[in-house]
Amino acid sequence: MSIHLSGWDDTIVALATPQGIGAIGVIRVSGKESFHILNQLFPSKDLTAQASHTIQVGYLKEDDQVLDEVVLSLFKGPRSYTGEDVIEISCHGSPFIQEQVIRAITKKGARLAKPGEFTQRAFLNGKLDLAQAESVADLIASNTEASRKTALHNMRGGFSSDLKQLREQLIRFSAMIELELDFSQEDVEFADRTALKQLIDELDGSIQQLIRSFSLGNVIRNGVQVAIIGKPNAGKSTLLNALLNENRAIVSDIAGTTRDTIEEVININGILFRLVDTAGIREHTADIIEQIGVAKSLEKMNASDIVLYLFDVNETTAEELKAFEQTLKEKNIQYLLVANKTDTAKLGSIQAITHMPYAISISAKTHTGIDVLKQALTQKAISGDVNTEATIVTNARHYDALLKLSQSLTDVRNGMHDQVPGDLLALDIRQCLHYLGLITGEITNEDQLDFIFSKFCIGK
Ligand code: GDP
Repeated sequence: MSIHLSGWDDTIVALATPQGIGAIGVIRVSGKESFHILNQLFPSKDLTAQASHTIQVGYLKEDDQVLDEVVLSLFKGPRSYTGEDVIEISCHGSPFIQEQVIRAITKKGARLAKPGEFTQRAFLNGKLDLAQAESVADLIASNTEASRKTALHNMRGGFSSDLKQLREQLIRFSAMIELELDFSQEDVEFADRTALKQLIDELDGSIQQLIRSFSLGNVIRNGVQVAIIGKPNAGKSTLLNALLNENRAIVSDIAGTTRDTIEEVININGILFRLVDTAGIREHTADIIEQIGVAKSLEKMNASDIVLYLFDVNETTAEELKAFEQTLKEKNIQYLLVANKTDTAKLGSIQAITHMPYAISISAKTHTGIDVLKQALTQKAISGDVNTEATIVTNARHYDALLKLSQSLTDVRNGMHDQVPGDLLALDIRQCLHYLGLITGEITNEDQLDFIFSKFCIGK
């Protein structure tokens, strides 16, 4: 890799496990001085004389003072995560001990690692391409089955191999064009244009598929925000509890989301749904339909991916629902109409839902219809099944590059249609290759790399 970032030559150290007390803590050291530095602190053995991929047990000492009894895992470059010499120190999980060990290592010449710097080095040393490196961060942040699968697929190079195929197709295309250029003197219409057009179509098909996968990727990565709204006593709290009882998700933080509202998170079929607390809406809603213009409630609904409108089947008329629907349609908001308290539904009151055949009937109290509701939520969130075996674009940076790539491809297609000379077509194709290179990191600069890796945690 030709690019050299500032400090790339330093040996770096960081705690790789979370801050705080635990059974053990792992400190990572990477760089050409790793073995030399640890040798000074680990007197019982000469580490440089040990084989790679072995573990060594012993005392870590600084000036005859024992810091801890530790286990060292040795990895000699290039057979390591970063591609450099790496030592992982498993020490006892006391923050005090860890701090002492890290300080001792920095005193011997290492410096503290920046966020993501280990993975950045893995990228710069060719162990991972940029798309793979970024999915490492996604994997660490994954909190559902679907997000884990997608990140793992991409880290193992699933996305990268798709890109490689695209790249090969583009190069084939460009080779055909250039062949034509070589023969242009002889006025040969080479590389029959139908084959070229077919290739462009194939390319475009693959790219469009990746572009389309982003809406699903976004759902998998960031979850889906659902606002449950309805009149007081419609049963919102009861429904929330019914959903939470079975599906409460364990989440730390969701990448890329701001948390200015209180929300409960549930996991349905591997997708995170963030149910927004509608207390703010409740304040205003003597009658939600009349109050629909209230800025605050609209704001909440606008910010949501799906509005779940819950109504008491005995208290709601078809007209009310129609008015409500109309408003949401005008705002282009996805919604689900959910009729509650069907366990107590009187014959006449069913009228409201018979006019709305797509309304979902539930009883939050007896948990009837909750599964159908969950299914409907999943279907609204994604179109079709979550097929995490296929490549799904989850990263906005990749998505952006794919859109530009698609635009350049349109230029190529139009150029062919207008019969522009081959050398101009070749330029457009080079542009396509450029955008592919942006994703995999073949074309990049220091600022961009710093930005990408600054979103990692320290020690990774
Ligand atoms: P919220 O104001 O919309 O949050 O409504 P609540 O969840 O507090 O429910 C209002 C009342 O309706 C409570 O007494 C609930 O027990 C009752 N309720 C909620 N869901 C159902 C249901 O499906 N069937 C029946 N019979 N009562 C329900």
